Amino acid sequence: MEAVALSEDLSDSTQRSDSDSKQQIYFIPYSWWRDAQDSVLGDSDGKRGILYVTSQASSYAGPMKIINNIFNSDLVFNLKREEDTVHSGENGEVGVSGRDYALVPAEMWVQALRWHSDSKAAVKDGKCFSAAEDDMTDVYPLQLRLSAPRETNSLGVRITKKDNGVEFFKRACKIFSVESEMLRIWDFSGQTSLFFTNEKSKFPSYQRQSEGIPLELQVYGLSDSFKCREGKKDERAAQHSTIASSCCGSSVMMNGSGGITNSNFIRSVWGSSCEAGSLGLTGLQNLGNTCFMNSSIQCLAHTPKLVDYFLGDYSREINPDNPLGMDGEIALAFGDLLRKLWAPGATPVAPRTFKSKLSRFAPQFNGFNQHDSQELLAFLLDGLHEDLNRVKCKPYVEVKDGDGRSDKEVADEYWRNHLARNDSIIVDVCQGQYKSTLVCPVCKKVSVTFDPFMYLSLPLPSTMMRTMTLTVVNTDGNSQPSQYTITVPKHGKFEDLIQGLSVACSLGVNETFLVAEIYNNCILRYLEEPSDSLSLIRDQDQLVAFRFIKDVEQFPLVVFMHQLMEDQYMHGKMTSSFGIPLVSRLCNSASGSDICNLYLKLLKPFQTPRNDSQECLDSSESATLEEVSGTQDTTPPVLGGGVNSCYGNGVDSPLDFGFQFYITDEKGTSKDKKIGMNEIVEKEESKQLNVLVCWPKKYIGEYDTRLLSSLAEVFKSSLFAKKPQESVSLYKCLEAFLKEEPLGPEDMWYCPGCKKHCQASKKLDLWRLPEILVIHLKRFSYSRCFKNKLETYVDFPDDNLDLSTYIAYRSDQLCNRYMLYAVSNHYGSMGGGHYTAFVHHGADRWYDFDDSHVNPVSQDKIKSSAAYVLFYRRVIEV
Ligand SMILES: [Zn+2]
Repeated sequence: MEAVALSEDLSDSTQRSDSDSKQQIYFIPYSWWRDAQDSVLGDSDGKRGILYVTSQASSYAGPMKIINNIFNSDLVFNLKREEDTVHSGENGEVGVSGRDYALVPAEMWVQALRWHSDSKAAVKDGKCFSAAEDDMTDVYPLQLRLSAPRETNSLGVRITKKDNGVEFFKRACKIFSVESEMLRIWDFSGQTSLFFTNEKSKFPSYQRQSEGIPLELQVYGLSDSFKCREGKKDERAAQHSTIASSCCGSSVMMNGSGGITNSNFIRSVWGSSCEAGSLGLTGLQNLGNTCFMNSSIQCLAHTPKLVDYFLGDYSREINPDNPLGMDGEIALAFGDLLRKLWAPGATPVAPRTFKSKLSRFAPQFNGFNQHDSQELLAFLLDGLHEDLNRVKCKPYVEVKDGDGRSDKEVADEYWRNHLARNDSIIVDVCQGQYKSTLVCPVCKKVSVTFDPFMYLSLPLPSTMMRTMTLTVVNTDGNSQPSQYTITVPKHGKFEDLIQGLSVACSLGVNETFLVAEIYNNCILRYLEEPSDSLSLIRDQDQLVAFRFIKDVEQFPLVVFMHQLMEDQYMHGKMTSSFGIPLVSRLCNSASGSDICNLYLKLLKPFQTPRNDSQECLDSSESATLEEVSGTQDTTPPVLGGGVNSCYGNGVDSPLDFGFQFYITDEKGTSKDKKIGMNEIVEKEESKQLNVLVCWPKKYIGEYDTRLLSSLAEVFKSSLFAKKPQESVSLYKCLEAFLKEEPLGPEDMWYCPGCKKHCQASKKLDLWRLPEILVIHLKRFSYSRCFKNKLETYVDFPDDNLDLSTYIAYRSDQLCNRYMLYAVSNHYGSMGGGHYTAFVHHGADRWYDFDDSHVNPVSQDKIKSSAAYVLFYRRVIEV
């Protein structure tokens, strides 16, 4: 029930000194009042109310009067005094319509409230009105202005958006802005009659008659409290909000018929209350891939201060002559669109006019291709700013050096200079300031500037870093391969990978890596160029880093590839290869037994643990290996091993007795020549020697071939999860944004010290935060060859984004904590995909604006990897 309270409370509290200055008038539904009055208060003898009826203020009776009355400007109407004959009017019983209200003094209101409260406790069937039980916290203030026009029997009433918060104004619209039906108000307080006597002087501000006398209304739980109490109905109502709001006028009318049938009455209030709650829940039609536009518009259309502004009279701020602006047309088109979205009973709006203006001024958004909602947002904020720039003639502003002044002094000067040229609602609400520090790498010249921003574009740290897993294989025969996962700059170079890996496995100063990509059990390529981009390495590649002693680098490589001797014939082709190629170095001239020795040494870490009962073959082998490894301590291990120490004791091994070695090609596909043990293998200077080693079956058990074959992918993506979802906190993104970084080569800075362009290092700090903080998450990356979208899940706070530790200057009075109120989402791939917006709409309610569809969405759905642009507003500290 609309327990609307009107408190007669002049805004200039100084003005009224006598007793009636403290008297509050409550504005309440007449039937609610009369129920209590009849039962308790008696017929309030002599207290006949003065009846007023509402009528259109004449200046608003044009063809656009509905729009005008509701939005274009303030609510204006007349209260016309009726003859006091009304207690049985033509409409049958008086005072039962939802359009009948009463003005009563505070004590009478409290009595009525108490009666309803008691009655509610006694009667369970809902005969009485349920709102009455509730406390007075539902009272909200509404400021209106009264004036006395020329006709002596009427009062002018104006409710302005300037005086009232947007919520209150909306509620006032619901009560007062009814075109089709008269509103009747009985004044039992006697206050209004002051206007018709000579007591106007009791209102000191009356002199400023054009403005009227301000009065403050306290509005009590008009809609929200009902919705909370009746959650289920509310949900249904919200889903049918379009229907409910489209019949908002008539829903109030229906109670005229039924007398005090409270169920009817309550239902009708229901209709109207969900209408109030559904204001602004209006979809935007998709005009062909315009969801990017709809998403941004809905976020802006629910930005508190901007709504107030554009629903108000902003036309005088239009700056049609600004050469940087769009002739005021974007601002006008945007304002018109906003009014349509916030009109009571609005159905989904087709933003054609806005789109055509946009196309005119920003042809990049033409056509029916999908565009970027953030790019549009940036354009729109800038365009609105210039169209609404209050500065008509921008003064020339000289940028001065810091000259040893404090940062605060310099920052304030920058800000003043900025405001001298830029002053608009966008600046008021959306602009902040950051500090930018450039340092010349040569002369160390420091340059500090303080620049404005309208949004922060934060990198997602995963755009910069990448994890890579490599298998490190030692070439000293002393340890098994192991896998290392390191994090490297995504757009880094090969040397970054080597450096990271060196740290990870504590590479000695006398050691080095040879990194190779392995494919089909052979070496596909070596990665040797330090400046090569890491983007050349794909996630599914398999990389091995062979760990070498630096001293032996002058010797050519020998690469051993492994093959099962028996299997090769079974399959009819040489597909029996297995394992990671083992790599070492060998002098240009070596015998077959040197090669054999070397191989055995490399294999040693893969030997399976043995029992005590050893065959003599094994013991001789292990003795040999010990001997080999014994020599490693003094000489480079790869060159060690006596000529006769090889397995097979210096004679060619019989086919079934041990490994067979063949000269082969890089892929290990041919057996060019069998290597005899006593044979000196000649090879070309510093050319790689490829050796294919054929394994007799009986050795398979001797060595752990599984270990030899275990090779990790650079980045293993799970088969089941689409992609392992990276998660990063919004604060980490902010830190990445604020991190000191060298400028890119395409972004050189002209150093005034060196008098030339240089690759300065740049550091950003937040200095001044705006009331509305827009944060853009850089999900899309564009490079020469390809575009990419990051699906990273960004964990962003929804009710307490605290930037206190990130702001460089902190003596500011303003709060650095923010609440989320809107999100522009992008789903799907780049270039295609779909945009929507999540918008907070009072209490803990969120709505999903998906083009023309607007549906409630639960709060736990707000955070997702689709979040693309975040809209925060500053928390108001109490
Ligand atoms: Zn310099």
